Amino acid sequence: MDTEQLTQKILDGDRRALARAITLVESGREDHRAKAQELLSELAKHKRQSLRIGLSGTPGVGKSTFIESFGMMLTGLGLRVAVLAVDPSSARSGGSILGDKTRMERLSRERNAFIRPSPSQSHLGGVARRSREAVALCEASGFDVVLIETVGVGQSETVVAEMSDLFLLLLAPAGGDELQGVKRGIMEMADLILVNKADGPLKPVATRTCADYAGALRLLRKRPQDPEGYPKALMVSAVEQHGLEQAWEEMQALTAWRRDNGHWEHRRADQSCYWFDQEVRQALLARLHTASAQSAMAELSGQVAKGALTPAAAAQQMLQDHLKG
Ligand code: GDP
Repeated sequence: MDTEQLTQKILDGDRRALARAITLVESGREDHRAKAQELLSELAKHKRQSLRIGLSGTPGVGKSTFIESFGMMLTGLGLRVAVLAVDPSSARSGGSILGDKTRMERLSRERNAFIRPSPSQSHLGGVARRSREAVALCEASGFDVVLIETVGVGQSETVVAEMSDLFLLLLAPAGGDELQGVKRGIMEMADLILVNKADGPLKPVATRTCADYAGALRLLRKRPQDPEGYPKALMVSAVEQHGLEQAWEEMQALTAWRRDNGHWEHRRADQSCYWFDQEVRQALLARLHTASAQSAMAELSGQVAKGALTPAAAAQQMLQDHLKG
């Protein structure tokens, strides 16, 4: 299929074409890369936008259960929902926390839902780029909502927040001590904190946890992109499907406010610049990963170790010799 046909099929919402295009952007082959870029540039002209919702939480907090319930609720409202995963574990170990096909069984059977596991790549930068491009493909394919899931470890939250319009943090009910465990930086990224498992015997703990986080959020610096009262902490039960409508209402209210006040556009523009910067960095690093650059690196390292060259002089030499064209 040529790029023009693939473009048209994606715009028509053809799921197989979408899956194929995602495989294309995940490929490391030079010719695939070129075709992927052509496709993405073509699709970008149509300026279709979804609501992109990032979701993070530690393993076991209930992400897949939440996505299944929340996704089913959205499709029940007549919305088309895509689910993508950014899985830093697959980058490290070749294994995957998020890729399991048996997750989200009901949602995966929905006609208006599309679920794609995380690509396995050798580094988070690679996963990030593929995922961002997969999000763009889903947007072009006419999904109303794109959910981007990640595990709460390391840098992956930043990466997901940079490709999301809204960032949700899913937490489990826990004692006060664990509040400290959520890094301040992650709290600052969150637009909504959802305390999951607010059901059965866990409900009183969830209520307390939610109040604790609401308090912690109030102490954060006010962000210009938020109306009064945000970010918020809410309770949900993914299993009993409680609180999901309210969470969705909050997401819509926040989105509407940001759209009306110019923050939506602004955030998207900032994100584009962030990804431009990342692409430049990645491309520069790739130049230093060729066989000849690697052997020069080893040679210069030897000289630095012996004290024959200073680290700065060796670095300058390396860049002079290997960053051209
Ligand atoms: P993930 O690793 O974050 O994707 O978490 P899962 O969705 O696989 O859920 C981990 C465990 O928590 C499973 O045993 C779920 O049944 C349970 N769980 C998820 N959501 C809820 C909830 O709302 N209430 C209760 N009680 N358990 C839940």
